[in-house]
Amino acid sequence: MATVVVLGAGMTGLTTAMLLARDGNRVTVLERDPAPPGDAVWTAWQRPGVSQFRHPHLVLPRWHREMEEALPEVVDELVASGGRPLNLIAMLPERVRGPLRDSDRQFDTVTARRPVLEAAVAAVAGRTAGLTVRRGAGVAGVSTGTGELPGVPHVTGVRLTDGGTVPADLVVDCTGGRSRLGSWLTAVGARRPAGERDTAGFVYYARHFRAPADRQPAVLTRPLQHYDSLSLLTLPADHGTWAVAIVTSSADRRLRALRDPAVWQSVLARYPLAAHWGSTTHGAEPITGVDVIAGLQDRSLRLVVDGDPVATGLVAVGDAWGTTNPALGRGLSIGLVHARVLQQLLREVDPVDAEKLARRFDEVTAAEVEPLHRMTVASDRHRLAELAGDLSGVPYETDDPGWAMTRALTAAAAVDTDAVRMGTSIGSLLATPGQLFADPAVAGRIMALGAGAPRYPMPGPDRAGLLAAMDG
Ligand SMILES: Cc1cc2nc3c(=O)[nH]c(=O)nc-3n(C[C@H](O)[C@H](O)[C@H](O)COP(=O)(O)OP(=O)(O)OC[C@H]3O[C@@H](n4cnc5c(N)ncnc54)[C@H](O)[C@@H]3O)c2cc1C
Repeated sequence: MATVVVLGAGMTGLTTAMLLARDGNRVTVLERDPAPPGDAVWTAWQRPGVSQFRHPHLVLPRWHREMEEALPEVVDELVASGGRPLNLIAMLPERVRGPLRDSDRQFDTVTARRPVLEAAVAAVAGRTAGLTVRRGAGVAGVSTGTGELPGVPHVTGVRLTDGGTVPADLVVDCTGGRSRLGSWLTAVGARRPAGERDTAGFVYYARHFRAPADRQPAVLTRPLQHYDSLSLLTLPADHGTWAVAIVTSSADRRLRALRDPAVWQSVLARYPLAAHWGSTTHGAEPITGVDVIAGLQDRSLRLVVDGDPVATGLVAVGDAWGTTNPALGRGLSIGLVHARVLQQLLREVDPVDAEKLARRFDEVTAAEVEPLHRMTVASDRHRLAELAGDLSGVPYETDDPGWAMTRALTAAAAVDTDAVRMGTSIGSLLATPGQLFADPAVAGRIMALGAGAPRYPMPGPDRAGLLAAMDG
């Protein structure tokens, strides 16, 4: 069994560490930020290492399913600590979803505000035999020794900011979207990792609310809703709280006034399916101002370049490997899938066989994780182009049949109980469009249902109405 050092005690780092420790590896997690402060995780936990720490998160059914299989005690802990069990179909009005079906159980999940989620994962990690979490331990770079491949550094551990070192048979980078892995590797003579990097181009204006149990907002539609010039996210959470995010293009300067809570409230009030999520007359009490996050990136990393590893003894998992625009709520699920891919590979390949491990991890990541990432990036690109069209007044057109199908499915989901399940399956990462629309009859039916629907079928203002709402 191997000595593994995981860098970063975020959602993916802790999960990866637990999975590898359960398999008998000796695992140490190194985390720069402090530990959770007992019960007051929402107000008191300082997490400068995770910029989205107080931004809305939805846990998708795919995460729930994978976690139930891999580490069911995490799901139990999350429920015990106030996480809200949800079913993404059952929560919809019956007129939208029709009668419940046995197969709807696949849409079960449990969700919470990010600090609550992470504290639950950390609690289970803290009870895991063979796993040590060292908080307040910042990583400054990697240390290397002699490897199998000439000219390719072999990572043998990490260097800490306090000057210490921690040896490892395998280093797993889970330091998130701001990972410095590329510069750590080039500093020890490695070739630069390959990968893609592009500005995601979205900005989030988000607020959290709370209300007593009998005044929780009614769910009238699916959590992600697209409108002219913006999207809305309405996300239930733990302890009677929930979040609403207004998501738009960073290029939309007129909408930057959304950082003002009064403007934000005035805008939300114009969307009939979501207005009550922020309405004080419906009992919504804001527990935050408007939290703004932008500058997010679509990026992914490859540590095998031109057929050869740039380094051995080290892999990247979760956001350290790849990030996307988070409106689709997929980061946690993709990170968990990635962690399980590593767990499976380490059952087959000993880290001593460092070159094989590097090559195989690149292959299995490309086969099992990258398709989820690419699907998400493709959707982001289309949505950003659509928002650019709304801004310029020249509606976005594309001949990509995948996007035409996505739009048709969105419209069909408002009127057809099969379509709402298909849309929720894809949104939950339980099925791909390729799987659902392999049968031309199914695809044809959805296109027919969506044909002729307006670009934005849900009720809400057009751009002129939105700007008027902003001006009060
Ligand atoms: C605005 C926003 C909303 C999101 N909403 C959702 C959602 O609804 N659903 C969803 O599934 N996903 C969502 N995501 C994505 C999700 O937050 C990430 O996918 C997830 O946090 C990735 O976990 P991670 O462990 O890989 O990285 P992180 O959570 O970023 O954790 C990285 C950890 O590494 C530590 N670290 C960094 N550098 C060092 C160092 N040098 N030494 C030691 N420690 C270090 C950090 O302190 C941190 O603890 C959202 C993201 C954003 C930006």
